[in-house]
Amino acid sequence: MKLHEYQSKQIFSKYSVPIPKGRVAATASEARQIAEELGGRVVIKSQVLVGGRGKAGGIKLAKDPNEAEQLATQILAMEIKGLPVRKVLVDEAAAIEQEIYLGITNDRAARKPVMMASAAGGVDIEEVAVTTPEKIIKAHIDPLLGLRDYQSRDIAASIDLSRDYWRDFGKIAKGLWEAYKASDATLAEINPLVITKDKRLVALDGKMLIDDNALFRHPDLVEMRDTDEEAPSETEARKYGLSFIKLDGNIGCMVNGAGLAMTSMDVIKLFGGEPANFLDIGGGASADKVAAAMRIILEDSNVKAVLYNIFGGITRCDEVAKGILAAMEEVKPKVPMVVRLVGTNALEGRALLANANMITAETLADAAQKAVAVAKGA
Ligand code: GDP
Ligand code: MN
Repeated sequence: MKLHEYQSKQIFSKYSVPIPKGRVAATASEARQIAEELGGRVVIKSQVLVGGRGKAGGIKLAKDPNEAEQLATQILAMEIKGLPVRKVLVDEAAAIEQEIYLGITNDRAARKPVMMASAAGGVDIEEVAVTTPEKIIKAHIDPLLGLRDYQSRDIAASIDLSRDYWRDFGKIAKGLWEAYKASDATLAEINPLVITKDKRLVALDGKMLIDDNALFRHPDLVEMRDTDEEAPSETEARKYGLSFIKLDGNIGCMVNGAGLAMTSMDVIKLFGGEPANFLDIGGGASADKVAAAMRIILEDSNVKAVLYNIFGGITRCDEVAKGILAAMEEVKPKVPMVVRLVGTNALEGRALLANANMITAETLADAAQKAVAVAKGA
């Protein structure tokens, strides 16, 4: 789950990371009022769950409440990378001397979290990572010991931070680690962490990703979920307990089991196709769950064919077949569908689908090839 900048910064500040004064607004007049309260220059920041807002024109400085209102009107009417802006954060503007990058993520290969820092922070950090990766300093964190003081000192020294800031930097690094750990995050990032002209370290931006599998123990974080900002299909899928991720291809996939879903996607690619989604209907999926899954897949207008790859175990193929039939009644699909049913009650399942105008396949390779062919209009 992605958190907004304002949410991430609120969490950071609970762990003693200094953030600018400010509040979030849903209308331009609210933005004006916040600017009046703050006094002086403010920055108006679009709150959308994508990066690169600055480059897209979603971050603007305002010299007074009038201009704040005017810019908020503009930004609230924007769409950034396809996402409509529904809120803006109005923060006290900072006078920036230097922009630093500081982030923590999981390094799966090392099986540990890793802290990354760079003196070349700011909106071009991705480019820095590609062209001059040596400018990004890394330190692995032992999850049991936590971030050690010597590690933050090492990082501070490696990014050539003046000694005057080491104490504060250490507190911020520690705070970021504590926030990361306590929230079961998979990313906690401050970009930029700035040195201001009046010699303070402040987290100007914030980003957090929370591990969905840990959300059950974070009711406070679950409340922060902004469903307005998700693909509606993903919200719908969550409601039915389906693991669904929308992708850019044109072959819809309905599969039971995450590993089988990944394999199916791989095999589709092997035969030159592109999956439109990852979808795991889970074990023992009932007919109504299957119907929901089909609706979700077919809502995507990119989908030119659907592949059903069901390996019956706990999931019974006849149940899945009933779900497919129920959903076909309801959504009247116009795209060709390829189905492969094997395992528990496969024969009963196939019998149910015999008159359903579907392309059948015996093996996954066969099914994938047929799906790729019909998606291409063959
Ligand atoms: P992002 O583009 O989505 O990463 O949004 P950021 O919050 O990181 O803002 C992008 C850039 O806008 C920053 O790197 C800064 O250069 C600039 N910026 C953001 N807030 C302020 C501010 O308060 N004062 C000034 N002068 N620049 C700011
Ligand atoms: Mn940023």
